[in-house]
Amino acid sequence: MKTYDVAVIGSGPSGASAALKLAENGISVVLIEKETLPRYKTCGGGFVYRGRRHMPFDVSSVVEREFNKIDIYFDKAGIHLTSEREEPIISMIMRDDFDNLIVEKAKKAGITLLEDHKLKDMTFGDSIALHTSKGDIQSKFVIAADGALSPTAKLTGWEETRYLIPALEYEVEVSPEDFERLSKEVRFDFDAVPLGYGWSFPKKNHLSIGVASARRTKIDLKKHYQEYLKTLGIKNIVNEQFHGFQIPVTPREDGYFRKNVLLVGDAAGFADPVTAEGISNAILTGVMAAESIIEAKLDSKETEALFDTKLSKVLLPELKTGVYLAKLFYENEKARHFLMKMYGPRFCEAMTDVFMGERSYPTDIKSRIGEKIKGAIFDKFKI
Ligand SMILES: Cc1cc2nc3c(=O)[nH]c(=O)nc-3n(C[C@H](O)[C@H](O)[C@H](O)COP(=O)(O)OP(=O)(O)OC[C@H]3O[C@@H](n4cnc5c(N)ncnc54)[C@H](O)[C@@H]3O)c2cc1C
Repeated sequence: MKTYDVAVIGSGPSGASAALKLAENGISVVLIEKETLPRYKTCGGGFVYRGRRHMPFDVSSVVEREFNKIDIYFDKAGIHLTSEREEPIISMIMRDDFDNLIVEKAKKAGITLLEDHKLKDMTFGDSIALHTSKGDIQSKFVIAADGALSPTAKLTGWEETRYLIPALEYEVEVSPEDFERLSKEVRFDFDAVPLGYGWSFPKKNHLSIGVASARRTKIDLKKHYQEYLKTLGIKNIVNEQFHGFQIPVTPREDGYFRKNVLLVGDAAGFADPVTAEGISNAILTGVMAAESIIEAKLDSKETEALFDTKLSKVLLPELKTGVYLAKLFYENEKARHFLMKMYGPRFCEAMTDVFMGERSYPTDIKSRIGEKIKGAIFDKFKI
């Protein structure tokens, strides 16, 4: 059985970034991916500057469009907010090209890529035996970067403690007139879905249009998508490809390390709880896992301690605040409109700062929401 220091399961942004970092530091890595690369990934493909600014190499070859401005709509309240920055707030990518670019960098750095290899089972002993659809591999550490469904986490014994929300993504070709109009704007529509939002992300020649619900209620998202097309003024669809998937928007509650397995990205539940934007934290946590193994010189206890310290420093408190903010924001439409009427431009600037990586959610959010505002919102809307 071939043996590696680290096996990374999944070649999305978290796994590919972890593999790259490890290989650059002389660690032997196998990257195991069930699909043939490059593979389609259900995703809006909006890559925020918070992620892009920290990329270890230039990604402009796979950026289809860049937007220095974002537009946020609350249609039912007649509110339109906008915000601009000098750097691209959101870069539009297609995930097959983007993810594959990171994998190619990792290959150049020396990883072994096993595509078309689906992880099926694991045996834990002195090292970990990974049983794939095309044979067995052995490694000291495993990085579970296998996304929202994370079979690796299940096989290692993690219970499901993340909150997963449903989202639909459509790759849509529209008429040249509609594309000319809609390709100028990256927009979020928070009244398009009750307890959620719709988005229109312009790519090179088509639009990625999606709808997500922040709550797992019984909801006909396809119907909301059809209505959202009307909001966008789209009459003729030239071509449309539908994809549906889930996004974990709360972190796991039972740790991120056990039996030498480290959880990163969606497998851990590290997407932003407010926006469900997951690419930047996937990359961040993939790199954190790799750095923990590198700095610990492959020592298990030390890796666990370092990974815990890195996650706990900023990310976990930030996500905790995000979960609180998401509840406040999505669960009561009237309260949301009330807040947006009072503080809309400030909210829009703050969200943009988060997208830019210039600030994160304040960890003392509850005390920051002044008593007066808290009283007004909580009493008025019975939150
Ligand atoms: C509809 C939708 C829209 C979204 N839009 C955005 C957006 O615009 N911007 C943004 O930042 N985020 C968005 N997200 C979230 C984002 O897609 C994820 O947070 C991100 O992909 C997480 O990256 P990851 O590396 O953790 O996992 P993934 O990208 O999911 O990669 C996991 C990899 O593991 C592989 N794998 C799974 N099981 C196995 C197995 N058994 N054996 C081997 N390999 C396996 C998969 O094939 C896949 O390649 C969206 C998500 C959805 C569903």
